[in-house]
Amino acid sequence: MHFDTLSVHAGNAVDPGTGAVRRPIVAANSYALPADPSTLSWSDVDTPIYTRNGGANQGWLEEKLALLETAGDRGNVDAVALASGVAALHAVFFTFLRSGDHVVSSDVTYVATHRLLTELLPDKYGITATLVDSSDPEAVRAAIRPETRLVHVETPANPSTRITDVEAVAAVAHEAGALLSVDATFATPILQRPLALGADLVVHSLTKYLNGHGDAMGGAVIGDRALTDRIRTDAQVNVGGVLSPFAAWLIMRGAVTLPLRMRRHCASAQTVAEWLAADPRVAYTTYPGLPTHPQHELAARTMDGFGGMMAFAVRGDQNAFVANLKVITSAVSLGHDESLIVHVAGDDERARSWPAEFREWGHLRFSVGLEDPRDLITDLDQALRAL
Ligand SMILES: *Cc1c(COP(=O)(O)O)cnc(C)c1O
Repeated sequence: MHFDTLSVHAGNAVDPGTGAVRRPIVAANSYALPADPSTLSWSDVDTPIYTRNGGANQGWLEEKLALLETAGDRGNVDAVALASGVAALHAVFFTFLRSGDHVVSSDVTYVATHRLLTELLPDKYGITATLVDSSDPEAVRAAIRPETRLVHVETPANPSTRITDVEAVAAVAHEAGALLSVDATFATPILQRPLALGADLVVHSLTKYLNGHGDAMGGAVIGDRALTDRIRTDAQVNVGGVLSPFAAWLIMRGAVTLPLRMRRHCASAQTVAEWLAADPRVAYTTYPGLPTHPQHELAARTMDGFGGMMAFAVRGDQNAFVANLKVITSAVSLGHDESLIVHVAGDDERARSWPAEFREWGHLRFSVGLEDPRDLITDLDQALRAL
């Protein structure tokens, strides 16, 4: 089946209890035990026991995510849905690393990933990380140590939209006997399926495009069942950052329109990026769909679209520009129906790894929404005029 069909049907079925054509929200915390529960482990994740071990709505969402991530050919692939994207990232690090282990990670990542790898994991668990430019597979190779157990990349990366060659980095990781995890939140399964390119684990913040409506938080890790079962038993059951049934239901509902939305996000972002790039009032525009993007060719070759995320700066006061916007909302998060923009200064703690123009001007991280792109351009234009 194709993505549009999978997005509609995967994980849904007629509810056998009621005949309803939508699976219901199952809010119960616990499930009836078998007649003889004496052989059951309270940490069992395969028998319905307790919603922290796995609930009905989590399971249906996991089915949808595993099918989307594998383009319908699920094989042994499973998904673990957790309370947020960061809970999913922590679950990967917590499950597959122990004291003394080493991680090679992209030096451009979501802020919590950066904090986990540079402060919290070293301080609390004695796990160290080397941050490199993962768009260069040789830089990843050079950072590998005998104790490297995991390579972690984010592609396209937040905020610079830097692209990593997943296939090349997977080869480097596997040669070293390490796992490769890919945070593919910006791409979604519609634009790239890292498992098919050799990654072992894919992480998504479901809060972003997968849900797409800005009204629920969630995260997921997807990979071979042998790996996701370990995440389930270690991080889900015993750390407990589980997704609520209601959030799982909302994300299931949002994901129905994911392919439609991604097509619109990509088309509108391309139109808006080209308009920004041609405007002399704009200092720079970074978008993988522009030929000036450093990995434009790689993105064109390895992705099925350039996404809805970009970064730019105006020649002037970024905050004053943002305050002039009327349609585009100044707020964090991304991948929502509405366009969101956030100003980040050039002296941010992570800026060392950002392109020089990000440090010089700061940047506006822009999540192009589902509005008519003509209205977005009109809004950007009037805010520039008012500057
Ligand atoms: C937002 C985001 C996360 C964190 O997800 P939450 O759901 O906010 O915890 C992780 N990675 C990327 C690339 C993100 O954009």
